[in-house]
Amino acid sequence: MKKMTKLAGVLAMTVLLIACSEQAPEQTSTAAGAETITVDLILTNGKIVTVDGSFSIHNTVVVDAGRIVETGSDALLDSYQADQLIDLQGKTVLPGFIDSHTHIRGRPNRYIELSEVSSIAEMQDLIRAKARELGEGEWITGYGWSEDELAENRRPLRQDLDLAAPNNPVIFTRAGGHSAVVSTLALELADITDATPDPEGGVIERDDNGVANGIIRERQGIVGRLVPDSTYDELIASLQINLNALLSKGITSITDASKSPGDYAMWQELYNKPGVNLPRAALQFQWRNPERINALKAEVGEGTDFLKIGPIKVFADGGFTGPAAYTLEPYVNQGDYRGYLNMPEAELVSLLNEIHDAGWQMGIHAIGDAAIELVVDTLAAALERNPRNDHRHYLNHFSMRPPEATMVKMAEHEIHITQQPNFTYTLEGRYVANLDGWRLQHNNPIRSPMDHGIVVAISSDILPIGPLVGLYAAVTRKGMSGRVFAAEEAITMEEAIRGYTITGAYLNFEEDTKGSLEAGKFADMIVLSDDILTIDPDQIMDINIEQTYIAGQLVYSR
Ligand SMILES: [Zn+2]
Repeated sequence: MKKMTKLAGVLAMTVLLIACSEQAPEQTSTAAGAETITVDLILTNGKIVTVDGSFSIHNTVVVDAGRIVETGSDALLDSYQADQLIDLQGKTVLPGFIDSHTHIRGRPNRYIELSEVSSIAEMQDLIRAKARELGEGEWITGYGWSEDELAENRRPLRQDLDLAAPNNPVIFTRAGGHSAVVSTLALELADITDATPDPEGGVIERDDNGVANGIIRERQGIVGRLVPDSTYDELIASLQINLNALLSKGITSITDASKSPGDYAMWQELYNKPGVNLPRAALQFQWRNPERINALKAEVGEGTDFLKIGPIKVFADGGFTGPAAYTLEPYVNQGDYRGYLNMPEAELVSLLNEIHDAGWQMGIHAIGDAAIELVVDTLAAALERNPRNDHRHYLNHFSMRPPEATMVKMAEHEIHITQQPNFTYTLEGRYVANLDGWRLQHNNPIRSPMDHGIVVAISSDILPIGPLVGLYAAVTRKGMSGRVFAAEEAITMEEAIRGYTITGAYLNFEEDTKGSLEAGKFADMIVLSDDILTIDPDQIMDINIEQTYIAGQLVYSR
């Protein structure tokens, strides 16, 4: 990664202050006669973890015109005075988290977020409240439940939904999106009876008596298609709420996957609204309509400091909730089933080549070891055929440890990773059900690719969005049960913080403006309730984000 030297940083800052500040900082004489410079903001008496090249830690950070001016000891208070001087009382400050893989979207009023729900009883309370809010007959939708996180230790079935809202059709998609549970009324409206044959590629689950239990696997669209369209207004209002909520998790930048140029227009409208607090975002498009993507790129170029177009998203395989990740060896207890590619292999290979040749960077979803191997082989061949410096193509997920030769090839061709250590925690049940032995132990490997010289960023995806879970799992390798998976794959907290900050910036070619608290960079930073560098690792998830700043503006306070 390119690092600004201190001198270059100071020089860049001088230029910046002249260029960016509406009024240049004023020189003021103190009573003692020393000159001080007035700036917008100073945080002092803290533990400022800069995440610079040497991971230096300072007491004070000086901010002006949205950027870091300087970090150092409290002697800086002799040189600067601030419109706003904050005494951190010893608290720890980090650069804002850069979450290099998320899925944030606007949701309609009928939607219930289920990823934090911890019991079927709680789910039923949410359904009752939503049914009252919407009135009888209205569809209720939701996403994100997982039997692994429910106190009842089982999946919700249609009777559970009926008890809470007999007069509203309900469809709740499981985390991962490969199945859903629907209520009796929803089944009736979709004309699904116990006698209805399974749809092609999917399953209508039935109990021992042949009665549909409400679970539909892979083809839940046979019910979902009945849900009325959402309005633009409710979606953009909800998008604003969902993006704003990231600030409370300390996230100041995201790369959001699976978007379309049409979505970009909605985000643009939101980001153009004055007075709205949102994280910086880069949107990843799927390669569905290259003309439209290229036209948008020609129109917005690099975008703004807050909203830009990210790398192109490609899906190589599925995930472990189906399970549909494409693996080299069969899953446990599932015959010779090895998951599958998201499209025929030849089609995937030509798609990756086409996007590479079109000059775009790619962030490619690859979860199973077979998918990882194929994608790496394809990228390596594309790079040999049509070399490009500093392409920064990366794999997203990397949930299984691929063969040694694959990791060597990745390092050689500078193919990077954005990894979700939080999966080791939240998806423990899925891994245990589908993998075993060495493959299970090395789920979501981090230490081994780093040791091969591969650049590894850390991100949340949706299980759940919250960097503290990822940091916890990255350093402990613990699943939800407390079981440790291949402790030798753990990384240090310093490495994990780099993964969630500067390395995320690097994946988006933004390491010169973000990801560390160094002179000239955006003053995107967070204040933590506890010292994340010294806390007992088991307490990491209990840390609170006290404040979040973007460009030196307080955008969240607990
Ligand atoms: Zn994802």
